[in-house]
Amino acid sequence: MSYRVAILGIYHESNTFVKVPTTLDDFRNGHLMKGWAICAEYASAHHEIGGMLEVLNREGIEIVPVFFAEATPGGKITAGTCTQLLGEMFEVLRKVLPVDACLVVPHGAAVCEEHADMDGYWLSVLRNLVGEKTLIVGTLDPHANVSSAMIEATDVLVSYRTNPHIDQRRTGTEAAELLVRMLKNEIVPHQQLLQLPLAISIEQQYTSKDPCRSLYALVDELRNNDPILSISINLGFPYADVREMGSTVIIITNNQPESAQKTARHIKKYIVDHQEDFRGIKKDVNAVITSLGSSEKPVLMLDMGDNVGGGAPGNSTVLLDAIEKGGVHKAFICLYDPNAVLQTSDYQTGDQFELVVTDHLNVKKYYDVALISCGDGKFHEPDPRHGGQAHFDMGRIAIVRTARGNVIMLTSLRISPFSLKQLTHFGINPDMFDVVIAKGVNAPIAAYAPVCPTILQVNTPGFTQADMTLFAYANRKKPMFPFEKITMDD
Ligand SMILES: [Zn+2]
Repeated sequence: MSYRVAILGIYHESNTFVKVPTTLDDFRNGHLMKGWAICAEYASAHHEIGGMLEVLNREGIEIVPVFFAEATPGGKITAGTCTQLLGEMFEVLRKVLPVDACLVVPHGAAVCEEHADMDGYWLSVLRNLVGEKTLIVGTLDPHANVSSAMIEATDVLVSYRTNPHIDQRRTGTEAAELLVRMLKNEIVPHQQLLQLPLAISIEQQYTSKDPCRSLYALVDELRNNDPILSISINLGFPYADVREMGSTVIIITNNQPESAQKTARHIKKYIVDHQEDFRGIKKDVNAVITSLGSSEKPVLMLDMGDNVGGGAPGNSTVLLDAIEKGGVHKAFICLYDPNAVLQTSDYQTGDQFELVVTDHLNVKKYYDVALISCGDGKFHEPDPRHGGQAHFDMGRIAIVRTARGNVIMLTSLRISPFSLKQLTHFGINPDMFDVVIAKGVNAPIAAYAPVCPTILQVNTPGFTQADMTLFAYANRKKPMFPFEKITMDD
């Protein structure tokens, strides 16, 4: 029997504390595609869509690529952008119906001005459109804040198991393989959501280290039990003031709800018993700068407060200024500042001038610099890296050196530091520096660990500051760790 399977998704991680909204232009500057362009972009990429395509091709299933939109994490999506994206996506889908199933690619932490649970909303609209008999199976980023609406609208959702996310293609494969077994009536999945009264500090979300390593090991053990088809840990995305903010577990059994409930209780007990492990360390800037002298170079310094992958703007100069002030170490930093790029257009390589950079607080900073180069900021990443994307565009860029010897790359488009090609493609070798500053927490580690023997996460201020208790939440669940202590009754 032959099947037709549609692929579609809208993918965004929305930081509700960032005031600049995410617009249609941000999706156009990211990835916004319809039809076969989706397959051309992702067939060989380390992305969940690549894994889905691989399985569908192998099984001889007709692929119906519909729509995929992705933008760099940022503020809430505007209501108009949401309407436009959903309108386009469902217009294309309506033309290709009927299909036997949909493979969906939400992130799980999208918020728009109109819908706090935007993923739950569009998945519910999809369910209404295709009806109860059409299977909906998909993937989630483990930074999803998973809602009941997402679970009710879908048959199966599976999340990446690594952070940095280097298993996105494998996750797409897992989802598509479960779908194939469902189409062949080999399994009847039952999906159970466990919403934990816990928000894990971003700093503690590195899956190769404790506390996450032990949590994932426990889940691996439980997953080997026969009736369990899949267990996904969603670490959660703390920078969203929404009802669903927090960590969750999705347990999928072969129609064995009692078994799922038993597994859920087991995981919840583990979390309640180990809650303090998920709080985070939070080393401040001065302590990190002091430790540089004895650290093996180059040091990867992670700017947790200005984490572009968590929606922060990527223009804080806190770490650059600390290095400039210290005057001892040479650093590389990338800053998003289109106006600063424009300033460099009047100069030739080697020219010296005063550069004005506007930081995350809208404060102007002045640096005496010399221009190294400027040009087009496109590059390609062939290896598995966080985010699974292959093609990146920083817009027009400029590279300058400050009088103190620190190198600043200025970009016109916001981009997360997920690829070392962002440096090496433009002639920048990390070995030239004592310190490489990356605006992230865990995600950049996949790219930088091979060249940086020391990795230091720094508790900097900003829209993604590590201490979530400093944000004013109006909508989160209570009680919830680390805001309150939790017990098995919560
Ligand atoms: Zn993520």
